[in-house]
This record gives sequence, structure tokens and C-alpha cells, in this order.
Amino acid sequence: MPAPRYVLALDFGGTKLAAAVVNVATGDVLSPVRTATPAAAGAAACLDAMAAAARESLRRQPAAAVAGIGISFGGPVSRDRRTVLRSMHVAAWDGFDLPARLSATFGLPAFMDNDGNAAALGEWRFGAGRGARDMLYVQVSTGVGAGIIADGRVYRGGGLAAEFGHLTVLPDGPECTCGKRGCVESLASGWAIARDGRAAFGDAAAMDAEQVVAAAAAGDGRGQAILDRAFTHLALGIANAIILLDPEVVVLGGGLARAEAALRREIEPALARFLPPIFKDRARLAFSRLGGAETLVGAALLVEEPILSF
Ligand SMILES: [Zn+2]
Repeated sequence: MPAPRYVLALDFGGTKLAAAVVNVATGDVLSPVRTATPAAAGAAACLDAMAAAARESLRRQPAAAVAGIGISFGGPVSRDRRTVLRSMHVAAWDGFDLPARLSATFGLPAFMDNDGNAAALGEWRFGAGRGARDMLYVQVSTGVGAGIIADGRVYRGGGLAAEFGHLTVLPDGPECTCGKRGCVESLASGWAIARDGRAAFGDAAAMDAEQVVAAAAAGDGRGQAILDRAFTHLALGIANAIILLDPEVVVLGGGLARAEAALRREIEPALARFLPPIFKDRARLAFSRLGGAETLVGAALLVEEPILSF
């Protein structure tokens, strides 16, 4: 067993906050504490709620000598990763120097990245992407996020790389949270599937994406039609990304990726349709092995990223 190395990992999501102590030598997540994001109360209130969750997690691990803080933020961050660029979910995050504030609060060095990159890092180091040199990670949950590992590193471009959810896959398609139309996220995310479910089953039905998946699994044609449209467009985005990146493995994570068999049935034929023959059977399709913990694990790994070569 390698000697443990502990990091405080923080996940700032639009609806949930999570804090945990992570052993970055093994990927073990210790004493996770989760709480709802007080979105209406603004950024400072979210920071206070997270600090309380972090203190509680640290209190439960008194023996862990924590070396730093790794932060996953649910939205784009600046190129130097010192400030938040924007949050679609909580007001007043724009320009917020989140790592500096947390560093001052806890007296530890702090490192931040967006949730897609953090989750990709976690899944690559300890999950389904382990051992791959090049990997695309796609998270399909309430929104659609992604991260790219290229040549054994997180590929960030100018900071906004891997905004996969906002690739246009249907011109003039449904409105997206980003301000345009027809994005992968506007067709294949949890919120998009829930929207289509409400339209198909009647507005009074408080459908969420899981209910649409359950309806389709029970043989309901309306549910199946919604999933066919959603996952065909998801596959179109993935096929375009495969042509661009030629990764060894594409890892699907997030709540909607838990229905692995159903998703494979939908995605694999669509990938075959959208990929040129030379790309056929090149990128392996895999599913998250960290079962939702990849974001916290990857956030923790950010602390070691500058000094480690995996
Ligand atoms: Zn968009």
C-alpha cells in the first residue's frame, strides 16, 4: 500500500455542494459531507455552506494530515484557474477568487478547475480511463460536461476546451442555457429529457429524466422516442469529438450513464452511423467506475497535478 496523501476535495455544483477528505494515493473518498447549494442566497452564502461542510469532513478525519485543497467548480473558470468566469446557477460568482478565499480560510494551498476537467482527471487516474494515454470523458447528468486527457494531461486549450455540451448538433434546435440553440446539452441532458417528457406526457406530469428512462424501459413509445432523439444527438457529438481527438477510450459518467446496457444499445449504432469507416472500433466506449465520486477524486488530484506525472 502506498503511503496515504490527504487532500480536502470540494465540489461546487449548481444544486449540491460536497466536501470530503481524499487519499490521493488510492483514490479513497473519506467522510464525504453533502449539502444543498443555497443558490438563491448567492456566492458568499455558498462559500460559507461549503466551509461548514469542509470543517465537518475534516473533523471526522482527525488523523489525516491534509496537504491542500482541490476545488471542482460547476462552470467555466479563468485560464489561470484562479477565478470563476461564470455560474449558470448561482448569481455573483463572476470573477470570484475562490481558491484564494478558501486558501485564506483553511491556511492551505488551493487549486481549482471546472467539474468536467476534474471528473475526467479522477476517472482517468482511478476509474475506467486508467492506463489510457488519450481519453474523452463525457458526463451526462442535469447538464452535459466533459474533459479531455490528451497525451497524458488534461487538455485545457485557452481554458474553455472540452465545452462538449455546447457543440451544435441540431441547427435551430431547442434553446440552451448558453444562449444558443441545438447544443448537445439542449437535447441530451437531464433537464432536456425532462422538458421533452413534460411535453410528451402533459405539462401537469412532473416528469424528470429518470421517469422518462423508466417509461421507455417499460415499453412506452413516447419515452423511447425522447431517448432516441436525445442519445442520437449525444452520439453525434461524441462521434465528432472522436474524429477530432482519436482517443483510446470514451468514458461516459453521470446519472444518466448508470443505465449502461440501454445507453450502449442507443449509442453504439449511432456512433457507427456517424463515424467514417477508418474510425470504426477504434475508441472503446466505457462507463464510469467511480460511480459519482470521480469529481471529488479528480478535484483532489488537482493539488498534485503540477508535480505528478501519471
Ligand atoms: Zn449550449
